[in-house]
Amino acid sequence: MSFTFDNALQNTRSTPLPMVMFLVMLLLASCSGSAPPVPEVHLQEQKEKNMPYNKLTPEEERVIVHKGTEAPFSGEYYQNRETGTYQCRRCDAPLFRSSDKFESGTGWPSFDDALPGAVKEVRDADGRRTEIVCANCGAHLGHVFFNEGMTAKNVRHCVNSVSLNFQPEALKPPATRTAVFAGGCFWGVEYHLSKVKGVLSVKSGYTGGEQANPSYKQVCSGRTGHAEAVEVEYDPSQVSYETLAKLFFEIHDPSQVNRQGPDVGTQYRSAVFYADEEQRRVAEKLIAELKAKGYRVATTVEKAGKFWQAEDYHQNYYEKTGHQPYCHIYTKRF
Ligand SMILES: [Zn+2]
Repeated sequence: MSFTFDNALQNTRSTPLPMVMFLVMLLLASCSGSAPPVPEVHLQEQKEKNMPYNKLTPEEERVIVHKGTEAPFSGEYYQNRETGTYQCRRCDAPLFRSSDKFESGTGWPSFDDALPGAVKEVRDADGRRTEIVCANCGAHLGHVFFNEGMTAKNVRHCVNSVSLNFQPEALKPPATRTAVFAGGCFWGVEYHLSKVKGVLSVKSGYTGGEQANPSYKQVCSGRTGHAEAVEVEYDPSQVSYETLAKLFFEIHDPSQVNRQGPDVGTQYRSAVFYADEEQRRVAEKLIAELKAKGYRVATTVEKAGKFWQAEDYHQNYYEKTGHQPYCHIYTKRF
């Protein structure tokens, strides 16, 4: 058991006088025999000379260096529910995981655990609470409280947002991507694109207009602004967007304006709905190639918006009916 000043004071209540005198002498001896304690701030200044720390704003310095407290319900992170890691604002050392964060209702970010060895507990200057500091740089973080019954671990690291930096978990690149094409009646476009290796699913639907949740009948009226379109989910490691887009230009006639064969109306327009800049770049490049070959390309390149899946009877129409597409016939153009 460690010997503390508090123990000594408590002991005076029940310990006989000679024992008290012995304890006092022991205290005096240990104090006079050691060098005066170095204030924490000086230690930090020494470390700062050797290590490049992040520059602190006056508010960060007030909390981190001078052990201040931010106003509750004011910090950046007390309501943050994102997945990631909380780092020391001053030295970037990882301190807490978002999975250990819980809603304590106190107005400060609260964690019932810290990363192993990341946080050091020290007796607060007030003699009552336990202060927590960054084990790497000594930055003041807040306080730790026990036995409040808030979580199963029964611990609450109460931390100032201003002492932390949140690092969101790096998003993994999606394993699959989506492409949307409109080239007349969606049955035929869907039929051809579904045959490509690396295409995982195809859906017929409506996009490019304003009306929410449109029906086939509404789209056929030509007044919704939507085009009949196909959403293709594909594995980019097996098939490129360019391969799909080239096929799209070869299974419909991109020179027809607001029609495709017998189907007439803006809902049958030729359009590429791009999901990102790369898709837009590829679509425009292919259109330029076709124009260079003499095609009068009518295809519009539009930013992808909400895709409304069509009624079930439109999905896999040719597969279900056993028919062949009547106006989507492959024609080599590239
Ligand atoms: Zn630190």
